[in-house]
Amino acid sequence: PVRTRIAPSPTGMMHIGTARVALFNWLYARHTGGQFLLRIEDTDRERSTEAAVQVIFDGLSWLGLEPDEAPVFQFARAERHRAVVDEMLARGAAYRDYMTPEELEAEREVARAEGRVIRSPWRDLSPNDAPDRPFVVRLKAPLDGETLVDDQVKGEIRFENRTLDDLILLRTDGTPTYNLAVVVDDHDMGITHVIRGDDHLNNAARQTLIYQGLGWEVPVWAHLPMINGPDGKKLSKRHGSQAVSEFDDMGYLPEAMRNYLAKLGWGHGDDEIFSDAQAISWFDIKDVVSAPARLDWDKLNHLNNHYIREADPARLAGLVVKILKSRDVAVKSADEALIARTIPFVRDGAKTTLDLADAVIFVLKDRPLELPEKTRAQLAEAEMRERFVRLRAALGAVTAWEVPGLEQALRLFAESESIGLGKFGPQLRAILSGGSPAPDLAGAMTALGRDESLGRIDDALS
Ligand code: GLU
Repeated sequence: PVRTRIAPSPTGMMHIGTARVALFNWLYARHTGGQFLLRIEDTDRERSTEAAVQVIFDGLSWLGLEPDEAPVFQFARAERHRAVVDEMLARGAAYRDYMTPEELEAEREVARAEGRVIRSPWRDLSPNDAPDRPFVVRLKAPLDGETLVDDQVKGEIRFENRTLDDLILLRTDGTPTYNLAVVVDDHDMGITHVIRGDDHLNNAARQTLIYQGLGWEVPVWAHLPMINGPDGKKLSKRHGSQAVSEFDDMGYLPEAMRNYLAKLGWGHGDDEIFSDAQAISWFDIKDVVSAPARLDWDKLNHLNNHYIREADPARLAGLVVKILKSRDVAVKSADEALIARTIPFVRDGAKTTLDLADAVIFVLKDRPLELPEKTRAQLAEAEMRERFVRLRAALGAVTAWEVPGLEQALRLFAESESIGLGKFGPQLRAILSGGSPAPDLAGAMTALGRDESLGRIDDALS
């Protein structure tokens, strides 16, 4: 069965490049009926933090990309990594290199002058000659021929072996190197497909040599193109290098992120909007394009608006309450239901859930509302005041307090007064909303409900 993984290093935030790699691994595993796994590459003890591990868990969970098995922590497997190197030493696939730092430096100079990679004299010396001093363990890689990385995205890439030096597997302090640990862990986790960013393409050649040295099967490689900013340049702080959690904070829905990230380097014809089920059934690594993808905020906003319009209002209300609380807006327990009722009337124009939060503020206000100065002045005029007294009566007679009935009542009122909606609509809207953004009048009144709507009008007239 197919087994994929992501292997992030917990050294900071989880940015959207990692999220996209996770999504593609998840999609491919789901598409093939396989498993999607997580390995935390926490071998950099100085920079790895527990908080950063939590950020990865939270990010995946928010994105809805839960791994199928418990995460593997790389640092905890150091003994296993060393044991594998011992096996390689025993089989002659690796050797102890006793070059001193000075010798290594000298070799580096010569190699540079001769235009070749460094070679240790210890490669061909028998262990009997071993001096009593620190050593590294290196892979005994082939000196000539070539190493083929048959990449699902990039095609066949050939590396001349004479351009690859013998990779260090264990450092002088006995700690395993990155490339060794990745190979051993991927092998032990049964990873069949390594799908990751193309910054690791060179590592694929080196890792292939380690697999071969171990006599293990090389996984299928797929190296994804980078994500660039909207300007085609490397992602910058302003343009999408934000942490995954910031997209949550910015009011994006995880399903919109999934749809959007799936389109960064992959797609299904011209389809802009597709469900998880569709993406899973269509996704194939072979269809990933090798050119860098570009972040496009307009597209993300468009998708997010689509998913906001589709989402269950009760769920959106929960998100909006969280946003309002974070803004220190006092939210009462009944408000969540009120917000859920309001959302259908305000969500068409919302790009993010932050927009939704702004758009529902008007229903949460307590009576009597503070009206804009201009509205108060207009209502102080007799003609306008009397008009609103009649409007109050007309609305009070509406029996079905829903959009169609309210729209009809407003239309009939305008006709009976022989005026256009423009002669009382803006004032009514201000009375209902206290000057905050509000949907169209019938929608606003439906969201507020009969008693609250009429009450706000009464307050304005009192
Ligand atoms: N730990 C590596 C990184 O964060 C990933 C290595 C891999 O996917 O093989 O870039």
